[in-house]
Amino acid sequence: MVAEIVSVGTELLLGNIVNTNAQHISKEMARLGIDLYYQTVVGDNEERLTNVLQVALDRSDLIIMTGGLGPTKDDLTKEVAASFFGKQLVFDEKTYQHVKKKLESYGISQMTESQKKQAMVPEGALVVTNPVGLAPGIIMAQGNKAVVMLPGPPKEMKALLEECCRLFINRLSDHVFVSINIKIKGPDELPLGVIGEAPIADQLSDILDNENPTVATYAKEDGVLIRVTASGKTREEALILMKPIVTKIAEILAGKIAWVKEDND
Ligand code: ATP
Ligand code: MG
Repeated sequence: MVAEIVSVGTELLLGNIVNTNAQHISKEMARLGIDLYYQTVVGDNEERLTNVLQVALDRSDLIIMTGGLGPTKDDLTKEVAASFFGKQLVFDEKTYQHVKKKLESYGISQMTESQKKQAMVPEGALVVTNPVGLAPGIIMAQGNKAVVMLPGPPKEMKALLEECCRLFINRLSDHVFVSINIKIKGPDELPLGVIGEAPIADQLSDILDNENPTVATYAKEDGVLIRVTASGKTREEALILMKPIVTKIAEILAGKIAWVKEDND
């Protein structure tokens, strides 16, 4: 399988921001043993974005796009991808509820028209909820090829990359991703100072830089979630790689764990 990165944003072309997303994705692909021969940067322009997508799909199997998924007028990525595949944008209730809830948590009860646009996704696409922001990850597949669209902000891109690519990487490459979720007890069971994301991340600081498996923490309403993800040639190999880290986390956080589950998405 050959992957390719398409970074979308005029800010990148003007040199206003550095393309750290492409660096991160490239490293991830290398870690997974997936070939990556091309990276393209394209501005927020419908025609040029369509051309870039055409070229990328002609020569690669998994196209990972970042940027341009926000609610403003210059955010065109999902519109261009949808029309490229001859699809309409349709309302996605799950994303709408997520955006509504997130905005309410910031004290915003009235959604603007452009915020509602976040809930429009290409017909038939797979949609992955953004754990740290509003715009979801969007996957459009055709035959053995897929276009994965991720939001531009690096924190959001990183939070969605693994989950959005896993389906296709598991299917198309000789590597599989396996994730184990470890849920920490919630505020009703443990005091907040003990279970917030920062105290948990502090206790795990030695293993958060680990490469295979990777370890990431996510703040959830009912307590922190830790996701350990390994890649291997088989599920069994990935689980073997994961075991010492999961055991270490269980030792460090003894008494604070609510449950441990394998992710079977
Ligand atoms: P938003 O909802 O924030 O608008 P978006 O998916 O539309 O997200 P962009 O508008 O393209 O993304 O970019 C938003 C911000 O994300 C940029 O201002 C920049 O800070 C960051 N960003 C975007 N692309 C990249 C990139 N390739 N590398 C690093 N940072 C990036
Ligand atoms: Mg934007």
